Amino acid sequence: MGKDYSTMTVRQLEELRSVMLDRIAAVPAFRRGSLQVGYRKCGRANCRCARPGEQGHGPRGLWTRTVKGPGGSRGQYIPVEQVDQVRGELDNYAQFAALVEDYIEINEVLCTSGVGPPARRPRRGDPASGGEKGGSIAGRTNRKR
Ligand SMILES: [Zn+2]
Repeated sequence: MGKDYSTMTVRQLEELRSVMLDRIAAVPAFRRGSLQVGYRKCGRANCRCARPGEQGHGPRGLWTRTVKGPGGSRGQYIPVEQVDQVRGELDNYAQFAALVEDYIEINEVLCTSGVGPPARRPRRGDPASGGEKGGSIAGRTNRKR
């Protein structure tokens, strides 16, 4: 995003494509979702966390992510000593997703720059250049007034 690949030559684009793929492959292990860190009350009436002024158990992390199917979301507790690691993994995913976006864009520019699979020759009888013959008034709904 933000880069203008359309001004690049086909060779530059192809080089960039292979560089991007290396960068994507080099992203360390990642995970999607989000992480909240906090204290929580367990809900047992006789626990110390139920007393007034207690902040609850923790801190610990809760990693949540959306999943397909029923429920739509899943959560997993993360011990506090793993919170930094999980944050890093979430950052890695953001990096991965951004690289993939760029990679897709580069590919699309390549596809539309006239290389790649051989383009079909435009046919003479193309309907776009067919001129206006009579009839079919019903089809012309976009008339301006
Ligand atoms: Zn408790």
